[in-house]
Amino acid sequence: MAIRQIRIMGDDRLEKVCKPVKEITPRTRELILDMLDTMYEAGGVGLAAPQVGILKRIVVIDVGEGPIVMINPEILETSGEQTGQEGCLSLPGQAGIVTRPNYVKVKAFNENMEEYELEGEELLARAVCHECDHLDGIMYVRHVEGDLFDVTGDEDAEDAEES
Ligand code: ZN
Repeated sequence: MAIRQIRIMGDDRLEKVCKPVKEITPRTRELILDMLDTMYEAGGVGLAAPQVGILKRIVVIDVGEGPIVMINPEILETSGEQTGQEGCLSLPGQAGIVTRPNYVKVKAFNENMEEYELEGEELLARAVCHECDHLDGIMYVRHVEGDLFDVTGDEDAEDAEES
């Protein structure tokens, strides 16, 4: 396991549509473990493979309830709305206000390529939408209402959820 370098906005890998995963190889497993390490090290709640330069449809999330691995995720259903602060490990020290669904139902495969469905609300729903956007080359700044603002030096974890 290793910490990988997180790509910063402006890197063209963050603007590409990622390819579906067809099979899990030892390299894919290593990538997933590295993504989890990298996300925890950076203190984020989610990380998508393109953020470490790999153009595959793989996402990891942990909103404080344990790690979730989503391969080839597909949002099946959304409902409601939440408006709140959002940040991204690929744009450190900044945040913006983004409206997202308050509920999502997503279909994905786990690290053994077993299909499962997941329902999430609030922060988990936000993280799922944010990470799935990364797989289509979309940074959250495209959804921001108003201006980005600086959160550097803000040690309040609740206000600095980055994914
Ligand atoms: Zn992000």
